[in-house]
Amino acid sequence: MRLIDGRAIAAAIREDLGAAAAALIAAGTVPTLAVVVPTDDEATDWYVRSIERMAKRAGIECRIEHMLDASGGQLGARLAELSLDPSVHGIICQTPMPAGVALHEVAAHIAPAKDIDGASPTSLGRLAAGLPTFAPATAAAVLEILRHEGVPLSGSRVVVVGRSTVVGKPAALLLIAAHATVTVCHSRTVGLADVCAEADVLVAAAGKASLIGAGHVKPGAVVIDVGTNPTSDGGLAGDVDQEAVSRRAAVLTPVPGGVGPVTTSLLLRHAVLAAQSGLAAQSG
Ligand code: NAD
Repeated sequence: MRLIDGRAIAAAIREDLGAAAAALIAAGTVPTLAVVVPTDDEATDWYVRSIERMAKRAGIECRIEHMLDASGGQLGARLAELSLDPSVHGIICQTPMPAGVALHEVAAHIAPAKDIDGASPTSLGRLAAGLPTFAPATAAAVLEILRHEGVPLSGSRVVVVGRSTVVGKPAALLLIAAHATVTVCHSRTVGLADVCAEADVLVAAAGKASLIGAGHVKPGAVVIDVGTNPTSDGGLAGDVDQEAVSRRAAVLTPVPGGVGPVTTSLLLRHAVLAAQSGLAAQSG
């Protein structure tokens, strides 16, 4: 079995971005990303700082706005303001949300053209309708990795474990658009292992460490592990039992170092694309 190097894929994306960002800056536009952070959470803080660091390296300005314990109304109002701010091209509302606040309600205030993490119901609807839109970056990362690895999708049997609106559902929509035959599993699926074992490509996005073992994997399958589950030693584990699955899968994304870094790079790519289309709209 071969492990896919998500960090290398991510670095190649960022290299291309550096050139695109430089061209935008030369044309007088600094591609700019705003990240609204509504909760105080150590893992989130680490993630947001990593976005900031990588954005800076690629020549993208990243404005982080902490709005700790803001109400849903206040968050929505700020996202609406940022949507109208011509100096901001991409907007992220970072999860987790405060208790009682639903991401989709707040993210509905992000203009679709700036919704670079595909968080608003409008973006998800456009994705389902096959219209141009930004897909959630994690779902897009699944497809980016499969394309990078040259995995044939047209006509392939793909199983996605997880049906959340941020990962499983949009990943399934992107895979359908790529002509795969897609089955979506979730917490009430009966006979998960048997369903998964039919997959040429298995995407695990359940958030349950070691959910996927050798019995879930068809020999020679491609396995994409989206799960990020904190371990007792402060590390991260995927949804896939890497050791067990390595005896059956052909290729697997590790955790960490698989989907995660590609997700961050794609968020930045989306920010640059949003800045480019904003520029096109101004000059068009
Ligand atoms: P979620 O909790 O919103 O959804 C989990 C989904 O998995 C649900 O649809 C649920 O039905 C399904 N599920 C749960 N237990 C199951 C089981 N035993 N069998 C089958 N299905 C089951 O989580 P999410 O936001 O979609 O995230 C999923 C995982 O992906 C988490 O580990 C999260 O941390 C990770 N994640 C990673 C990235 C990244 O960039 N790598 C980004 C976002 C989320």
